Amino acid sequence: MNEDEEASYQAFVEERRAQILERVEASCQAAGRETSEVLVEAVSKTVGFDEVRCAWKAGWRVFAENRPQELARKLAAAQEDPDLSHARFDMIGNLQKNKINQVIGRVGLIHSISSVHLAEAVSSRCEARGIVQPVLLECNVSGEETKSGLTPDEARAAAEGLVGLPGIEIKGLMTMAPAGDKARAQRTFESLRLLRDELERRAGASLPELSCGMSDDFPEAIAEGSTMVRLGRVVFSPDYALA
Ligand SMILES: *Cc1c(COP(=O)(O)O)cnc(C)c1O
Repeated sequence: MNEDEEASYQAFVEERRAQILERVEASCQAAGRETSEVLVEAVSKTVGFDEVRCAWKAGWRVFAENRPQELARKLAAAQEDPDLSHARFDMIGNLQKNKINQVIGRVGLIHSISSVHLAEAVSSRCEARGIVQPVLLECNVSGEETKSGLTPDEARAAAEGLVGLPGIEIKGLMTMAPAGDKARAQRTFESLRLLRDELERRAGASLPELSCGMSDDFPEAIAEGSTMVRLGRVVFSPDYALA
């Protein structure tokens, strides 16, 4: 971006952030929740580091990426930047076993532990490095075949064992809702919350975090108890109209 482009993008990102926070606050109020209960993450996967820097200046503090290679690129750029050197980046996308070492210990939270196998692999790599990585279990509660994640039955069967893995700390659950149908999305978020309640009882563990809600459906997610909304287009794209 040249100077003019950067100034106008900066103005856009700041105005958009104010609108998003207003919407988050209204959704919390309607649900009888505190705004501080919901972390809003800026999903930077489609933008470059210039846009991330503008977002940081606008007040965004937690970013999320869905590809290990792009995550590594953004982390390297952040490290070179005096302001962003302590920015938090989360991993929210498909994580292949051969990419685990690029991610553990470098992200605040891995949202996308999508199988028992992956949980075990991440745990053992972390153990070998003497770290404990905070993670979420990605659950496919909508039943859509295209979505990744543990099925509710898999999660029920595995919960106790997963909570006992020494290299990861399971903070809660994550899901993706079906696109294009807000009512269906809301039912998906409700199912995630109910599954969380059930897994807490089964595993005797606290799973406080629910990562759900994206640009199109974050108000519905907040209504159902989301503690982390992951917003991409609405934060970064001037083409996205905030309804
Ligand atoms: C891209 C992405 C988001 C953000 O989606 P938007 O619709 O752009 O807000 C959230 N979560 C995951 C896992 C994603 O891949």
